[in-house]
Amino acid sequence: MTEVRVRFPPSPTGYLHIGGARTALLNWLFARKHGGKLILRIEDTDAERSTRESIEGILDGLTWLGLDWDEGPYFQTEFAADHIRAADRLIETGHAYKCFCTKEALDAKREAAMTAKQDVKYDGACRELSAAEVAAREKAGIPSVIRFKVPRREGTVAYEDKVLGRIERRYEDIEDFVIVRSNGKPLYLLSNVVDDIRDRITHIIRGQDHMTNTTRQVLLYEALGAPIPVFAHMPLTLDLEKRKISKRSHGEIVAVQFYRDRGFIPWALCNFLVLLGWNPGTDQEIFSRGELIEAFSLERIGKVNSVFNYRKNDPKFFTDPKAIAINSHYLRTMPIEEIAAMVKAHFLDRGLWDAAYDGEKKEWFLRTLDLIRDRFHTINDFSTLGRAYFADDYEIDPKPLAKNVLKHPELKKWLPLLAERFAALERFDQDSTEAASRQLAAELDIKPGILINGMRTVLTGQLAGPGMFDVLAALGRDRVVARLTNIDALYARAGE
Ligand code: GLU
Repeated sequence: MTEVRVRFPPSPTGYLHIGGARTALLNWLFARKHGGKLILRIEDTDAERSTRESIEGILDGLTWLGLDWDEGPYFQTEFAADHIRAADRLIETGHAYKCFCTKEALDAKREAAMTAKQDVKYDGACRELSAAEVAAREKAGIPSVIRFKVPRREGTVAYEDKVLGRIERRYEDIEDFVIVRSNGKPLYLLSNVVDDIRDRITHIIRGQDHMTNTTRQVLLYEALGAPIPVFAHMPLTLDLEKRKISKRSHGEIVAVQFYRDRGFIPWALCNFLVLLGWNPGTDQEIFSRGELIEAFSLERIGKVNSVFNYRKNDPKFFTDPKAIAINSHYLRTMPIEEIAAMVKAHFLDRGLWDAAYDGEKKEWFLRTLDLIRDRFHTINDFSTLGRAYFADDYEIDPKPLAKNVLKHPELKKWLPLLAERFAALERFDQDSTEAASRQLAAELDIKPGILINGMRTVLTGQLAGPGMFDVLAALGRDRVVARLTNIDALYARAGE
């Protein structure tokens, strides 16, 4: 069997779009499933957009997602000579021709055709020019483009799409399309095919938005005498209003970088993305890499557009809630050492890292991450919602502050009293702190919840969290006593 060779050929736009990431992912899965190769090709013919940073943005995004490629990156502009050679060969073999029609002449014809409600396709004026006529025009310095000579016969050009089945288009509906501009620059339709032939691509997995190109590209393959690869067109991903998701309408959430900055787990994002266009045929939603490679097949790519469920004005969700849910799942269930490695990188970035977390405090660090991760959605939550465990400059959520602290002015006295009891304990652990808290509540004749909720707010800044006595154990006696004793500082911070 021939080796499976797929490609990801982005045209740089400054960042890796999640739609592009999904395309890369599906190609990667297919290559890995079949022990094949993924070729990365940067289609950098738009010089303005293909800056160094813009290309780096794509490579960084793929690397972060863990989607490794086997060949490349190749750069399309480096192969311009191949593209021109192919165009010349197409002329030699009668599959293409030079067209000297001026833009003005074409515009006038188009307008006339539109007025007469006729077909606005190129009329083939230069299709049958003799060699002598071509030479004469060239000698006269008339600029020309190269057009592909679409066979003028009955019938259709067709291919078997792995997802959508047989796709065909009548020859008569396809105009003689331009493959090289008058400035000598080859067009995407041609370059893309020539590169895929050179790179021996066997399967082209790309968005349905490219389907208008595919039939014309099949003609090019035929004319160039190359085998036609297998095509699999993926559905588009649209928002709730059925618009394509774009930076202009949706902002940063379309860029892979956004998810990295927000503390997503790379594989969790992949797991979310694959479901936007592929389904396993079961209810399973969470897939390890190995499981997904095993389960993946082109036949189960969806036919209909998938929905990126983003409610821009819902402050609770900063992106598709399903993406957040899948990320939370991984955050809760991944081996804690793997979470710790990501938290380390994040803490280093935020100046929160303590070298002892890799040394004498390692066990504490892992245990604490494990304790608090249940309610978190992203790695960034460890430095925000979980900050009190790692630093003293944590914020106090105003909601629990009002409800659990300020509403009971006596806590100003009670919490320092509790600190005294904690300080005097022989051992400071879950049982001893619970007993001491209940004892004090009984003496003060108040509900233990008043002390517990009050101390949670003061000690962690949060309304909710793990069991309070586990929290105390994780924070350790010194910090607990200091924070409860210096309660005035907290009131001062809260402006009371
Ligand atoms: N450069 C094209 C794009 O980014 C590639 C399309 C293809 O896969 O052929 O859309």
